[in-house]
Amino acid sequence: VSEINKNKIFQFIEDLFPLCRSITGSATRKTLKYIQDYVPIELFSVPSGMQVFDWTVPEEWNISDAFIKDMDGNKIVDFNENNLHVLNYSRSIHETMRLEKLKKHIYTMPEHPEWIPYRTSYYEKNWGFCMRHSNFEQLNEGEYEVKIDSNLESGKLNYGELYIDGESEQEVLFSTYICHPSMCNDNLTGPAILTFLAKNLLEKDELKYNYRFLFIPETIGAITWLSQNEDKIDNIKGGLVATCLGDEGDFTYKKTRSGESYIDKVSLKTLKDLNFDYEVMDFFPWGSDERQYSSPAFQLDMGSIMKTPYGQFPEYHTSADNLEFISSDSLYSSLEAYLKFVKILENDKFLINTNPKCEPNLGDRGLYDKIGAAKDSNKQKHAIFWLLNLSDGSNSLLDIAMLADMDFEYICETAKVLAGKGLLSAKE
Ligand SMILES: [Zn+2]
Repeated sequence: VSEINKNKIFQFIEDLFPLCRSITGSATRKTLKYIQDYVPIELFSVPSGMQVFDWTVPEEWNISDAFIKDMDGNKIVDFNENNLHVLNYSRSIHETMRLEKLKKHIYTMPEHPEWIPYRTSYYEKNWGFCMRHSNFEQLNEGEYEVKIDSNLESGKLNYGELYIDGESEQEVLFSTYICHPSMCNDNLTGPAILTFLAKNLLEKDELKYNYRFLFIPETIGAITWLSQNEDKIDNIKGGLVATCLGDEGDFTYKKTRSGESYIDKVSLKTLKDLNFDYEVMDFFPWGSDERQYSSPAFQLDMGSIMKTPYGQFPEYHTSADNLEFISSDSLYSSLEAYLKFVKILENDKFLINTNPKCEPNLGDRGLYDKIGAAKDSNKQKHAIFWLLNLSDGSNSLLDIAMLADMDFEYICETAKVLAGKGLLSAKE
């Protein structure tokens, strides 16, 4: 990853930041089209009213303007200043009303009086405004002109999908959501990292696994995708849900449902080998779309490599989760983690010791010559011993790297040397 890419990831988020996304609507389509400028995702849509498992695809929501004006004509709240000001999925309204009535439709955050909270009402018809508590407190008794120019009618739910073909039958799933309005860590960092990861994978000549990338509205999108693609589930080895990847906090790994899946091993080794500080969270059945993918009928091993998780930073779901809250350095380290995750997946394999009766004579094979500077010689010797001892067909290179407590890449390099001498061969 070059320095140029580092700024490009941030640019991606900056470009998409102003759009008032939701689980449906034109801003969400624009977001998907924007991603197509980078990678050739295929766009899909399903109609409002369609039944997807226990859910119904909602009506499509679009909004052009919203405000609250006092009787002097001053805009107290203006959608054009920040799209979080409107309760996402608000029905339209144009009415003059007393403060008493208006208050019932206003949401604020007294604990952070300068932040605008993010609220939604997808499945219950409602209207509302979200305000800075400091402004709310200054509202005088009297009448206000309230207008929300939105449109809720039968339309479509859109999502994007990219499939990259590899050699094996098995596929790895990367999923992120595209439904939040102007907020960064949750959620534009997820689409940004997956877009640049996909771009990188598309440039590779060959891949072991197939990779599927989903850019979907959270919850209803995952439910919709699963309902349309049940035949694909059996081939999915597992994967990651990408969210909260741009703040300055340490990494967090949220484990898969089983807690001891292959995806967990790869993820934890990824963070360890990159020398990142990280915390580990056991699986819990809320959060993001991992809860749909790992529901009882599917049980996909979906983990989540994140920075500070949703709900654990005060700026979460507020106007303070903005472009200042994330950094290009943090985004860059997240992309590094996702690239490393793929690198381990792609290079992990089972090898067999071809000379399993005691140790082979390493000196005769010139292997001690391969051992370079004296300070490294013990390390390489140990790597050789670990590989020869454990390559009985039941341990993969990743298992060996973990047991040896050595970098996965170092174990791979040493395995190549041993394979070159005929001491390791591919497991049939
Ligand atoms: Zn969220």
